[in-house]
Amino acid sequence: MLRNFEQEIKNLETRHLRRQIRIMESPSDTIITIEGRRFISMASNNYLGLANHPGVKQAAIKAIERWGVGAGAARLMSGTMTPHHQLERDLAQLKQVEAALTFGTGYTTNLGLIPALIDRNGLILADRYCHASLIEACRLAKATLRVFHHNDAGHLEKLLKKREKARPTLVVTEGVFSMDGDLAPLPDLLALCRQHEATLVIDDAHGTGVMGKNGQGTVEHFGLNPRDVLQMGTLSKAIGAGGGYIAGTAALKDYLINTAKAFIYTTAQPPAIAAAASAAIRIIQDEPARRERLRANQNALHSALTDLGLQLTDTQSPILPIIVKSPERAVEMSQALYEAGVYVPAIRPPTVPKDSSRLRLTVSSEHTQEQLETVVTAFRKIREAFSMKPTSASG
Ligand SMILES: *Cc1c(COP(=O)(O)O)cnc(C)c1O
Repeated sequence: MLRNFEQEIKNLETRHLRRQIRIMESPSDTIITIEGRRFISMASNNYLGLANHPGVKQAAIKAIERWGVGAGAARLMSGTMTPHHQLERDLAQLKQVEAALTFGTGYTTNLGLIPALIDRNGLILADRYCHASLIEACRLAKATLRVFHHNDAGHLEKLLKKREKARPTLVVTEGVFSMDGDLAPLPDLLALCRQHEATLVIDDAHGTGVMGKNGQGTVEHFGLNPRDVLQMGTLSKAIGAGGGYIAGTAALKDYLINTAKAFIYTTAQPPAIAAAASAAIRIIQDEPARRERLRANQNALHSALTDLGLQLTDTQSPILPIIVKSPERAVEMSQALYEAGVYVPAIRPPTVPKDSSRLRLTVSSEHTQEQLETVVTAFRKIREAFSMKPTSASG
C-alpha cells in the first residue's frame, strides 16, 4: 500500500515542517521578484553575483550557438565536447591540482565519488553536520559509517584509534558548513589523517570561489597543499552555473571515469553550462575585488545583526544563520521578513538538528550597503514584534 500523501502532508503542516516552493519571476540576484513583488534576496548561494553576470551569460549564449543545447550522450559515449574538456582544465588550475572531473550536479558528484573510493570493507568517519548528499553517498558505499561530533578533532582521533588496523578509511567533512557557515579545522583533520593513514575528503561546495585569497577554497584559506587531500565542489554556488566536480590526481580522475556510476550512466552536462562555468572561473581569478566586497558585506551584516542582539552561529563565511530553535518561530519570522520585503528562508529539520531551526541569510558581493541596511531595519522591527531577548548589551 502506498502512503496516504494528504495525511503525510497534514502531519508535516501541524509540526510546521511542511516545505513549499516559491516561484521566482526574476533571475538569481540581490533583488528578486516573487508574486509580482520585489524582495531583497538573502537566500541565494550566488555569492559573487556570477549566476546573472553579463559575461557569464554571454559565454553560455555563444556556446549554445556553437554547440547546441543538449550534450546528446553520456560523457564516455559522445557527450564530451570541447567546453567540458576546457572546464576540467580550468577547474584543475583553479584548485591547483593535476586533474578535475565534472559531474551533472554537486549532489551526484558525492554519490559518484564516495562509493568509488571505498566499499563494505572500509570505514567512513563523517562530521555530524555533513550535507545530505555526503551521507547518502556514504550509505551507498556500504562501508561502515561513523559520525564524529561537529568539528571535533578530538572525537575523530578517538574513532581513528579504535579502528582495526589497515582498514581503508575516509574522513569526510565540508570545508565551509552549509547550514552553520563555520569552517572545518582542516589542518587538524589532515594531521590526524596522515598519522592514521586515512584519506581526507573535503566537500568545498561553499568554499570554492569564496575562501582563500585567490578563491581556491578552504584548502587555500588554511594554506594546505591541495595534493594532500581529495576535494569535490559544485559549479552551482559561487561559480553560478550548475554541476559538480572532483579535484585530485590524474589517476583518480581516470579511475572515476571507469568506476563512478554517477559519472558513467548519465548524460553530460549541457556544454553551454560548462562554458559558463569556465567564464565564471576566469572572473573568480581575475576579480579578487568581488571577494573583498563579499567579505566586507559579510562583516558589516554580521556585526549589525549581532548588535541587534540576535544569536548568530559561529560563522566565518557569507552564510549567516540566526538560531531561533523552534520551526514554528522560524517560519513566522521568515514570513514577517517577507512582508517587510526581505527574503530569508526558514531552515528546519531534517536539514538541521531538532531545536536548531534557523533563519539562514547568505550575503553576496553584489548587495549594496543600502540593501543591507534595509535588511537590518527589517530585523530590528521583527525583533521587537517577536520580543527576542538581546544576547548582548547593545542594539
Ligand atoms: C549544495 C551542496 C551540495 C550539492 O551541490 P549541487 O550542485 O547543488 O547539487 C553538496 N554538498 C554541499 C555541502 C552543498 O552545500
